[in-house]
Amino acid sequence: MLQGVHFLLTYMCNFECDHCFVYSGPSAPGTFTLNQIKDVIDEMTNIDTAEWVYFEGGEPFLFYPIMIEGVKIARDQGFRVGIVTNSYFATTKEDAEIWLKPLVALGISILSVSDDPLHHGDEKESPAKRLIAAARRVGMPASSICIEKPVAGVSTDSTQEKGEPVIGGDTMLRGRAVEKLLEGLPKKSWKTFTECPHEELVVPKRIHVDPYGNTHICQGLSMGNIWEVPLSELDKKYDANLHPICGPLIKGGPAQLAKTYDVKHEDAYVDACHFCYLVRKSLIGKFPQFLAPRQVYGLE
Ligand code: SF4
Repeated sequence: MLQGVHFLLTYMCNFECDHCFVYSGPSAPGTFTLNQIKDVIDEMTNIDTAEWVYFEGGEPFLFYPIMIEGVKIARDQGFRVGIVTNSYFATTKEDAEIWLKPLVALGISILSVSDDPLHHGDEKESPAKRLIAAARRVGMPASSICIEKPVAGVSTDSTQEKGEPVIGGDTMLRGRAVEKLLEGLPKKSWKTFTECPHEELVVPKRIHVDPYGNTHICQGLSMGNIWEVPLSELDKKYDANLHPICGPLIKGGPAQLAKTYDVKHEDAYVDACHFCYLVRKSLIGKFPQFLAPRQVYGLE
């Protein structure tokens, strides 16, 4: 039962982070129009369980007036609203307050700010810290998202075999992270990746929608296209077992997905997402409507 719809308001971002799982960057195409946002939010009113609208990206503050109008539409329809930002615009606390005040007036439930060295380097006085301080001063709930770079380590956890190579950090190995952040990380046999560790594939509670109409259950893994089938209908009809990618993933993770479609692969991968992402990438030609858009796989 869908509770939240997260708008990838734009794929464009002023940053081009190594860990970005949707390949955002200054020249990434794809931005919602206001009419498209309105259509999606209108459609959300047909889903009884839907409560939340998020605006994220890319960097949603790059399209500030459209984001503000989108927030208004969502609030007018009674949805709670969250925003995710990299805080690039918080040049001073005073200026950050000016950016936030129109949003405070609209009633934002949470501002989530990326605050980690992957986004801002090791700056002590990062824009993220300035923005969170400014949000608190103007009365907007704010929290930080801190993603750590993946590093090789050795297990000391009693639930795993002691001394087994493990990955520290919480970067998801999808998208550009697979291209940029794998060096030096230990790998395990592909056969060990028999489940999806992160997403609720059977009954997704939240999806990300993009300007092309894709409904991401996981980045680049789409339930279907909302410009072809209305969102409420997609949500109602979704049966994970019948979905050509989610079905095998539910049955036996990325290993099963590779077996089902006889995908050629390496013997070992860093984690389940690393394996899953690459298997999916090789299946794009076969399932273009479910593995989209190509740009989140680093393809033209
Ligand atoms: S990349 Fe695959 S295994 Fe990882 S969370 Fe997404 S669907 Fe699950």
